[in-house]
Amino acid sequence: MSHIRAEYIWIDGNKPTATLRSKTKILDGPIRSLEDVPLWGFDGSSTMQAVGHDSDRLLRPIYYAPDPIRRGDNILVMNEVRLPDGSVHESNTRAHLVKLQEKYKDHEPWFGIEQEYTFFRGRSPLGWPEGGYPAPQGPFYCGVGADEVFGREIVEAHMNACLEAGLALSGINAEVMPGQWEFQIGPLGLPEVADQLWIARWLLYRIAEDSGVNATLHPKPIKGDWNGAGAHTNFSTKAMREEGGLRVVRAACEALEKRHEEHIAVYGAHNEERLTGLHETCSIHEFRYGISDRGASVRIPMATANEGRGYLEDRRPAANMDPYQVCAALLETTCG
Ligand code: ADP
Ligand code: MN
Ligand code: MN
Ligand code: MN
Repeated sequence: MSHIRAEYIWIDGNKPTATLRSKTKILDGPIRSLEDVPLWGFDGSSTMQAVGHDSDRLLRPIYYAPDPIRRGDNILVMNEVRLPDGSVHESNTRAHLVKLQEKYKDHEPWFGIEQEYTFFRGRSPLGWPEGGYPAPQGPFYCGVGADEVFGREIVEAHMNACLEAGLALSGINAEVMPGQWEFQIGPLGLPEVADQLWIARWLLYRIAEDSGVNATLHPKPIKGDWNGAGAHTNFSTKAMREEGGLRVVRAACEALEKRHEEHIAVYGAHNEERLTGLHETCSIHEFRYGISDRGASVRIPMATANEGRGYLEDRRPAANMDPYQVCAALLETTCG
């Protein structure tokens, strides 16, 4: 009998920003579909998801992928958290997104998420002088050479792992602040884009761990004249991608303007430190959209304007956002 090591990953109840947890279950193979991956449980009192006298919480597998770290027949299993009776736990933001997707599926929404993050070793970003600062920003974005980029071996290993796990990774790049990087997932439908982003985040933490490096999603890891970290969320519906779609894109921007506060409320904690109006952001207190405008809240990419159809880029979400909530908000506002 084959022993399959299944890494069960879930999202905890930490506030204001949930974090990832995981533990290993040995399964008897073979695993041919999600139905072969059993339910499991955990101690919710250790993850801010239960109180001690009623602590069992259910892990319900919702997505699995080949494990690119353990390899072989081993798998990664993304889960949602449920109460013992099977009902949705309050920390489970995926369940609401799945309902919305069902409601709006005729719009055929696609999402592509740009995940920015910052490597830290100890208290400093990777590659920064201990207790000091590197040269001012300028040469680091998409840079090359040991004086400009830091942590590439981890980034490459993460990219390969995502691809081996079958995730829809569409690219990577070094960012404006040294030690900061980005990967993109998508375009994909719902809820896959969000499930895959959470798994890609887990792989990033896990792979960096082997180098004694921590990847943080804090939206403003270093105060002052240094870029923050976002999770630009690119979004389109069938109507936006078809002939004359630019009109639909603009209408979506108008709808987003009316619900700016509701969106900001679920776009990540500490985002006010990042959305200052500097460093390629628009102030958190304003909403603006524009073609090719990286100082806007929502950018209409040049190609979308030129072709008269395509997608929009919501630049407001912070790197630490919950993609289940961000995708749900975009769907509700633009399709509702
Ligand atoms: P940027 O120029 O903002 O850095 P990136 O290349 O990093 O852009 O990311 C663009 C993202 O947009 C990618 O994740 C890509 O998959 C996604 N994307 C492309 N076309 C669409 C579309 N029609 N709908 C939704 N997302 C899309
Ligand atoms: Mn990008
Ligand atoms: Mn970027
Ligand atoms: Mn972008």
